[in-house]
Amino acid sequence: MTSPVHCEIAVIGAGVVGVATARWLRRQGYDVLLLERDGIAAGASYGNAGTLAPYGVMPIAQPALLGAIPSLLFSRESPFVINWARLPRLMPWLVRFLNECRTSRCALNTQALSRILQHTYSGYAPLLQETPQADLHLRHKGCLYAYGTTNGFAAAQAAIELRRSLGIAQEILDADQLGQLEPALAGKALAGILFPESSHMDDPKAFIEALAAPLIADGALRTAHITRVQRQPDGLRLLDAAGTHYHAQRVVLCGGAWSAGLARQLGDHIPLDTERGYHIEFDLPEPLLERPCCPVESAFYMTPMAGRLRVAGTVELGSIKDPANTQRFDYLERHVRRVMGLSQPVARRWLGFRPSLPDSLPVIGPSPNEPRMIYAFGHQHLGLTLAGATGQLVADCIAGKAPDWLQDFSVQRF
Ligand SMILES: Cc1cc2nc3c(=O)[nH]c(=O)nc-3n(C[C@H](O)[C@H](O)[C@H](O)COP(=O)(O)OP(=O)(O)OC[C@H]3O[C@@H](n4cnc5c(N)ncnc54)[C@H](O)[C@@H]3O)c2cc1C
Repeated sequence: MTSPVHCEIAVIGAGVVGVATARWLRRQGYDVLLLERDGIAAGASYGNAGTLAPYGVMPIAQPALLGAIPSLLFSRESPFVINWARLPRLMPWLVRFLNECRTSRCALNTQALSRILQHTYSGYAPLLQETPQADLHLRHKGCLYAYGTTNGFAAAQAAIELRRSLGIAQEILDADQLGQLEPALAGKALAGILFPESSHMDDPKAFIEALAAPLIADGALRTAHITRVQRQPDGLRLLDAAGTHYHAQRVVLCGGAWSAGLARQLGDHIPLDTERGYHIEFDLPEPLLERPCCPVESAFYMTPMAGRLRVAGTVELGSIKDPANTQRFDYLERHVRRVMGLSQPVARRWLGFRPSLPDSLPVIGPSPNEPRMIYAFGHQHLGLTLAGATGQLVADCIAGKAPDWLQDFSVQRF
């Protein structure tokens, strides 16, 4: 056996959460190794809609969804689908998810999300100051919800009130104001909401690579597929698929939708599953939109990125092992052509795996069975938004300075 590679803290997974976490730990002075099997931003962090969405306080599991489930699940035009062949395996997660749709649970989850979302920008700020190249990929133009039907806008009133009560900036727009803001949507929507404090990235992968640059320069990124974690008297031992051993005083698991297996090895059974999401891209030398726009009834984002329009979203419950469902690409294409009148061919298609817990909250904090293992995964629809805040919370946790409200994200809630 070759001698192990030593470090103070090993971070598993170089998605946006792992990279931001490794950066926070490095700036606190720890000797950090970032272990990734596939490369920077190879998972969900690659193909998302690119928005920083501090307004995203509404959990996916909410009471309004309960009544809508039958039409959502059985309509071909639904943004939310299930692979029925996977139903037996999904059942435990789904039961918990339905439980989280209760009004009382939803209120608690909203409160927890709203607390952590307040740290969206402060969690990134010191990292971006140190890596201005990453900051260059951010655009601060807000994000727009566009409603195509009066029913759709009427259904949004409760969420508007809730966000107002939480002090979230939002501007309600009529059709004319919306058309002035985004001429490409003129005459195509009845009303809108602008979230002025939202930002977006012109290229999420390039953003994360720039964020990771200081780690790469230090030689702190290693290619490693971690398959086993073992307790040792003086730390944790990680084994990778190639036979290399790593020894760390602490480990932070940021493996996104693939995290549950390693946690299970320490006795933590975490109901992590995946909400599969899709994107298609159109090459457009001139941007059609100024900012990410969500035609709410179709439930995807159209985000202007460098040289292209990315259309990303929808939820498919199934398995991380299933191949892409081409009907989901067709759904996105059909709807974006209807909304935007695009004639260009689709240039690229992508399927990704949101790491999702049934209550729409991530897990952030130590394993109850092994305090030297810190979990930071399960960021569902908000991982890009919450990565900076998560990195800071992990660093605080390790320094023994975690805020009381971090309990809301503890794995012990399951
Ligand atoms: C269609 C879509 C649109 C989205 N839009 C947005 C948005 O606009 N805004 C937003 O905030 N969020 C959005 N999200 C969610 C966001 O992309 C995710 O929450 C986020 O990327 C999760 O980041 P992560 O680092 O936890 O996971 P990932 O990006 O999946 O990274 C996990 C990494 O861990 C590695 N890994 C796993 N296991 C191991 C192992 N055993 N050994 C070594 N490496 C391992 C994987 O290779 C991977 O690189 C969207 C997601 C989708 C699918």
